[in-house]
Amino acid sequence: MPIIHHHIASLRDTLKHYRSQQRIALVPTMGNLHDGHLALVTLAKQHADIVVVSIFVNPTQFGVGEDFNSYPRMLEADVAKLTTVGTDYVFAPTSDEMYPILPLPTSIHAGAITTQLCGQTRPTHFDGVGIVVSKLFNIVQPNVAIFGQKDYQQLAIIKQLVRDLSYPIDIITAPIVRATDGLALSSRNQYLSPEERNIAPLLQQELQRLAQQFTASQHTQKGFEALIVEASKRITAAGFIVDYLEVKTAELEALNSKSAKPTTGSQDLIIVVAAWLGRARLLDNLLVTIY
Ligand code: AMP
Repeated sequence: MPIIHHHIASLRDTLKHYRSQQRIALVPTMGNLHDGHLALVTLAKQHADIVVVSIFVNPTQFGVGEDFNSYPRMLEADVAKLTTVGTDYVFAPTSDEMYPILPLPTSIHAGAITTQLCGQTRPTHFDGVGIVVSKLFNIVQPNVAIFGQKDYQQLAIIKQLVRDLSYPIDIITAPIVRATDGLALSSRNQYLSPEERNIAPLLQQELQRLAQQFTASQHTQKGFEALIVEASKRITAAGFIVDYLEVKTAELEALNSKSAKPTTGSQDLIIVVAAWLGRARLLDNLLVTIY
């Protein structure tokens, strides 16, 4: 069973005894854990001796009218799950512990990468992610930190943060864990009604279909865009409200050449989607290499 710390000072005091001899991994989460989170912990154990899982529903990454108040908080059940995968420490601070003052006068803004995709409808979200992840990095000072590919834009922003602020931390990407029908696991899937839950795997199916279409033929960027419009229409017809469905380079840059296919070699692309289904905003993505 992991040892739970609610205070920064006590966690720091504990971790300082390991630092010189052992590698420490951090797995940041907002709790309400599922198998996707547990896979991150399992991966963390392969890269470090001591695994710290943070559980903190971070107020600064929620916008006005978003689900901060209703976000499920279930520390006891989460700790029971973490016990099964061998977590050493849980860091579960209160909001006051993390933010003595709100709004915090200091900000972390990762620039242009934060204004695209999710940033279009959640303009302050990634500033909140930036500040909380920076604080967690400073509190835990891990050697490695594990983040899921499911939140692809967040992952890209954190890699940029580590590069720009010279954090001596290896960022490890964990693949997306899915239900057997293909739906990416998410804490917010529980907002889906049984009918919506049946429809939800369509998102992943449409990503797969797009990936096949992209690799199958000699498409120009215009051709890619037409395929995306068709996919978006099918997703909408199934009952989703599409926030965005886009294809970008794996670095999240726009595809700006006339021909989307590279003339020589290969190119790694990411197809990213966010769509509302009832009360749940679902995210998914798929990496595809085109030749
Ligand atoms: P959250 O609790 O939603 O903030 O997520 C915490 C971490 O778990 C983030 O790095 C997410 O990308 C990751 N994560 C969430 N869902 C999944 C999933 N289905 N597969 C892999 N990682 C995930």
